[in-house]
Amino acid sequence: MSTESIEGGTLSNLSREDRTFEPPAELAAHANVTAEAYDRAASDREAFWAAAAERLDWAEKWDRVLDWDNPPFAKWFTGGKLNATYNCVDRHVEAGRGDKVALHWVGEPIEDKRTITYADLQREVCQAANALTALGVEAGDRVAIYMPMIPETVVAMLACARIGAPHTVVFGGFSSDALASRLVDCQAKVVVTADGGYRRGAPSALKPAVDEARAKTSSEGFDVEHVLVVRRTGQDLGEHGWDDAVDVWWHDAVGSASTEHAWEPFDAEHPLYVMYTSGTTGKPKGILHTTGGYLTGTSYTHHAVFDLKPDTDVYWCTADVGWVTGHSYLVYGPLANGATQVMYEGTPDAPNKGRWWDIVAEYGVTIFYTAPTAIRTFMKQGREIPDERDLSSIRLLGSVGESINPEAYMWYREVIGGERCPIVDTWWQTETGQILISPLPGVTAGKPGSAMRPLPGIEADVVDEAGESVPNGSGGYLVVKEPWPAMLRTIWGDDDRFKETYWSRFPGSKVGGKGFYFAGDGAKRDEDGAIWLLGRVDDVMNVSGHRLSTTEIESALVSHPKVAEAAVVGAADETTGQAVCAFVILRDSAGDGGEDIVEELRRHVQKEIGAIAKPRQIMIVPELPKTRSGKIMRRLLKDVAEHREVGDVTTLADSSVMNLISQGIGSSN
Ligand code: ATP
Ligand code: MG
Repeated sequence: MSTESIEGGTLSNLSREDRTFEPPAELAAHANVTAEAYDRAASDREAFWAAAAERLDWAEKWDRVLDWDNPPFAKWFTGGKLNATYNCVDRHVEAGRGDKVALHWVGEPIEDKRTITYADLQREVCQAANALTALGVEAGDRVAIYMPMIPETVVAMLACARIGAPHTVVFGGFSSDALASRLVDCQAKVVVTADGGYRRGAPSALKPAVDEARAKTSSEGFDVEHVLVVRRTGQDLGEHGWDDAVDVWWHDAVGSASTEHAWEPFDAEHPLYVMYTSGTTGKPKGILHTTGGYLTGTSYTHHAVFDLKPDTDVYWCTADVGWVTGHSYLVYGPLANGATQVMYEGTPDAPNKGRWWDIVAEYGVTIFYTAPTAIRTFMKQGREIPDERDLSSIRLLGSVGESINPEAYMWYREVIGGERCPIVDTWWQTETGQILISPLPGVTAGKPGSAMRPLPGIEADVVDEAGESVPNGSGGYLVVKEPWPAMLRTIWGDDDRFKETYWSRFPGSKVGGKGFYFAGDGAKRDEDGAIWLLGRVDDVMNVSGHRLSTTEIESALVSHPKVAEAAVVGAADETTGQAVCAFVILRDSAGDGGEDIVEELRRHVQKEIGAIAKPRQIMIVPELPKTRSGKIMRRLLKDVAEHREVGDVTTLADSSVMNLISQGIGSSN
């Protein structure tokens, strides 16, 4: 990690953005959360979060809102007891909303769809809870979930939560190696999987990867006890086929189980799940989330940031459940709030590039939450595709995962949002569990590219090396100064790594109090005090003594009409220390960009930011390496730029991308 300062200097005076968009009057007039929340939280933060916790049903009320006696190990709502699944499912049925649709599930094959009400969900979750119990799973045991995006995935998560067995969802696109390392790390007793799922128009196998992973963990002396298999595609089960001692069909075990299951209250600090981070910056970390604070943080922020009206909204978060966004804003937050939502199995381009927009039109989606990478892909393909569909039901748009470049924000706002919808650019992490920085859609005037300000009850700040808040107009480190309910409790099995990674940069001895949580991201505060995320602190480049942000140079490139996506890295350079290297994907409409495209783009960056940021090298590439959650893996591009062997690619969504890039390099620089 770079130990140099990123405060002040060039970081803070690069690109400028003056456009602001006021909240729509109608939305502001009926917003779930108004400016009052900031004042209330400022006057008594713990009372504010206690009020948010009252949104849930507790079997036993807490004695203490926050126990921060032993930092950095926070406990929230100590003494309180609740069941997460009861809060996400049963209580809605008990309140007479059993017939309300919980999930409009859309399979990738056209016309393969299911409607699941809250009452349906309750029955299936009870059956799955009984089946897991029959397989020997007890409270505290870990269950791995390696699944496509099908309703059974949500059912399995809720069944685990119901019996107090922490789940660890492993993205279905990951290899058997990635699965094996996670199974061993959290010592999973059972794996829930499927024969396969549909991706890009074809069945894609999962079960064989579980068999391979089991063989690997066995050779390391660890065995899972059972594999529970959903039949989704009906495809061949691969060379290992079926192991009667271990494998169990879901439709047998769950299908035959009782639809009644008495839920049990768990301690507020009972582990809910372990989720591994994206691995954008290194080896994934097993992030532990617990029950009461997590559910409070996710349900409150879902209510506040998405302004969900459970009776009229149709909410769609496009994230895979293998990512934290799928946990907090597809499963726990929305279901705790009784939302009706869309869940889609496949890829955005199957069977055609308008598939997402067809789904929006068919279900009348009103709130739509996705990642900048998806928006840039749609920009690349051209606006004709969404323009042909009726997107008029949408009233609010959200973005998560990376900074949204101003150009992508404007496109999202105009083309998808019809210029009437507010955009909430939500900053958070696997570790934070809940959104921490975002506009409130009925309160905050949004600026393209800025996550704006910390939510009520969140003490996020931008500080300098010494931990002092930076003045408006300066850059620094993003930190959180006080605990928040959905914060990670530790790294699974590794308290030391937890302390070292997040709490050693700004310890209490340096900044007073009990220390700050260090997020690893650089940020700046503009002249109005709005927060702009600048990329990972580790990725900040030092060019001839000037500190440059990856995000700002990427945004400058994306603002060129021929560019759809860009990734920037700093590569070692003999004269300047580091040099800016850019990897660029062109829009379809730009063709090959023309002979002078590289020079044209270099000049464009110079004009937008300044000569110092002008890339030494620009490579036109067909694809960029991305994680499952759509984040660009700059560390791999840095390997290419510095002519090194490419590092760990196990968390790439598509590992063949690196070959494509390496092959193309010689010809385009
Ligand atoms: P690892 O920690 O293993 O390197 P990761 O940080 O990519 O993986 P996640 O927890 O999925 O894993 O990602 C969180 C990061 O995503 C944040 O630290 C930030 O860099 C980025 N991010 C998320 N939302 C936003 C946003 N709205 N604006 C800017 N950056 C964002
Ligand atoms: Mg991270």
